[in-house]
Formats: sequence, C-alpha cells, structure tokens
Amino acid sequence: MALAEPLLRLRGVTKRYDGGGLVVDALDLTVERGEFLTLLGPSGSGKTTTLMMIAGFEQANAGEILYEGRSIANLPPHKRDFGVVFQSYALFPHMSVAENVAFPLTLRGIARAEIDRRVARALDMIELGGLGARRPGQLSGGQQQRVALARALVFEPKLVLMDEPLGALDKRLREQMQLEIRRLHRELGLTVVYVTHDQTEAMVMSDRVAVFHLGRVQQLADPRTIHEQPANGFVARFIGETNAFDGRLTGTGDGRDVRIDGSAGLVLRGVAGQSAPRSAYVLVSIRPERISIGDGHGENRVVGRVRQAIYFGDHLGIEVAIDGGAMVRVNLGVRGVDHAPVPDSEIVLSWRAEHTLLLEPVI
Ligand code: ADP
Ligand code: MG
Repeated sequence: MALAEPLLRLRGVTKRYDGGGLVVDALDLTVERGEFLTLLGPSGSGKTTTLMMIAGFEQANAGEILYEGRSIANLPPHKRDFGVVFQSYALFPHMSVAENVAFPLTLRGIARAEIDRRVARALDMIELGGLGARRPGQLSGGQQQRVALARALVFEPKLVLMDEPLGALDKRLREQMQLEIRRLHRELGLTVVYVTHDQTEAMVMSDRVAVFHLGRVQQLADPRTIHEQPANGFVARFIGETNAFDGRLTGTGDGRDVRIDGSAGLVLRGVAGQSAPRSAYVLVSIRPERISIGDGHGENRVVGRVRQAIYFGDHLGIEVAIDGGAMVRVNLGVRGVDHAPVPDSEIVLSWRAEHTLLLEPVI
C-alpha cells in the first residue's frame, strides 16, 4: 500500500480566508515521488495559498493533505521538513553565505564537521564555492537566489516547495536558473512543487503542469498535452498563442462542423476536445503554428488578406484578415521562408481538422 501511495496527496482541499470567497475549491492533486509538478495560473488563482497549505503556513477549511499516506494537518511547518524557497530570498543579512546555508543543519543539531562538509558541497553545487564568507548584500540577485536554493536543499528534503523563486530576476538570469533548478531536480532526485504565473517557465521545467484558475485545477497534464490538447477555453487562451473563435456546431458531416459567429458563413471542420451536443456553442481554438500557407494542408481552407508580416527572429508572425473581419494569426518557421507574404495580398490558409480544437466556450 505504501508504495502505491503518491508522496503527497491533496483531497478536497478547500480554503477561504475569513469571510471571503473560495480561494481554493475542493482541490484534488497528487504529487509523485521524484516529480517536478508546477502550479501555473494567473495572479489570484490560488497557487500561493495551495503551496502555503502544503507547507503548513495556512490551514485548509476542509479536505486533507496526506504525506506518504498520512495526514499532516497537525504537523507544524518545521516538522514537515520540506525545503521552501520563496520569491523574496529572505537570506539572513547579518550571516555569511556559508552560515545562511548551514542554518537548517544547525537547527537540526547536526555535528559541526558534517555541517561544514555539506555546506561546502551545497555551495559547489550552486557554483558559489569561493563566496561562502561573503554577506548576502555583497552578492547579485541571482547569486542570492542560488544561496536561497542551496539553503532549501542542504538538508536533503524529500519535498521542495518553490513559489515564484525567479520572479525578481532579469530574463537572462531567470532562464539560466530555470535550467539549473531542472538539473538539480534530476541529479538530486528531488520532488518539487513549483509555483509560477509564467507559462514558458512551467513548460521548460515541469514533468506535469496543473493549470489553476479560480481556485480550481483546469487541467493537469504534461506540458505537451497542455499545449496541444487544452481541456477548455481557459487553458487554450492562457497557454501559448491561439486563434479563438466562437461558433456553433452545425450538425452537418459527423457533427464536427462549426459555423463561426460573425463570419459570412464560414464553416470550419474540427475535432471535439470534449463531446458536445449538436448545435451547441463551442470555442474553436487553432494554434498559429498549425496553419499553413496555400492549399492542401488539411480539411480547413480559408481565404484572407495579409494585414502584416512581422519578423520575430525565430519565426514569422502573419496577421490575416478573413471574411467578416476576423483576424487569424499564422506563425511560420523562418527556415524555408524566403520572402514574407506581402501586405494586402490575397492568401489561402489551410490546416487539418485535428488542429481545430472544439472546446467548452467559457468557464
Ligand atoms: P496566486 O498565488 O495564484 O496569485 P493567492 O493564493 O496568493 O493566488 O491568492 C488567491 C486569492 O486569495 C486572492 O484573491 C488573494 O487576494 C486572496 N488572499 C491571499 N492571501 C490572503 C490572505 N492572507 N487574506 C485574505 N485573502 C488572501
Ligand atoms: Mg502567488
């Protein structure tokens, strides 16, 4: 039984701050051993609150949190023994870097020699081996964040909780740290629950992503599934770029034809992500990178006029106005595209039915 049990399991976890509305709504979630699970969602969707309840800094109003199959409701945060990293590094400014990293070990009454050995190894791991004697104030933001990471990992916790730990860093450093945390996760065999509102960060780092909205998990899956098979309109719009149209199933064909609202009779062929009754309203989502220029790339074909073509370096973004005035965004890889489509020229777009996703319209 113990083996089949996930490391962490949240069951019906519900939270409202006194008097307020539901912030976390009957949340079910499991975290497997060795997994990197990310809670991704817009600001206010309940990610931090969920992490705080796992850490023990907030209490759930209902539901239970099981660690290795046992409720941890009555365990105070320090007894849970989880490594915790938050956005503000919260290093102790009066202690040296080495003393900061040593702190969790000192707290646990570990022998001096063993502390020195582990701190040296932790500082090497984050490539700050020579800087143990410095104060946090003498380090850059990125170096401080690495020290915070070392401090959270030095006592070899079985579970590490991180809440937007890279939010304060500039883009280049953030990307470097993403790869570094990913590497540490793999090399040390850590289990990580990671919070971010940044979808690219979630994609890059995670084994699985839980997309949060309104205190509920909208979808829990690996990054590729989240992107290619979003469970609903919220996920489709929140993750990546998408062309989203409202429409109504027409009931022709096998019932997967959709008449697009506000168009002059445009009908698209799609594949239902969810089973929907005929003549139901649906959201149609087509990723810009799935649309090709010219005829013959699938069951869907529309004619439009090029509004503009924008060079992004790694891709070409083309805006096409189709009948009824709707805009379609097309992303083309730069390889093999010698000349960008000319503004105001007529253009044919086509794509496959399997890339026209029919989703529940709204949450
Ligand atoms: P996220 O981390 O996804 O941005 P939070 O869990 O921080 O979301 O917040 C979810 C909701 O709970 C927000 O509406 C927020 O204002 C509210 N909230 C968070 N912390 C508190 C608190 N200590 N007291 C009252 N309301 C709070
Ligand atoms: Mg938060």
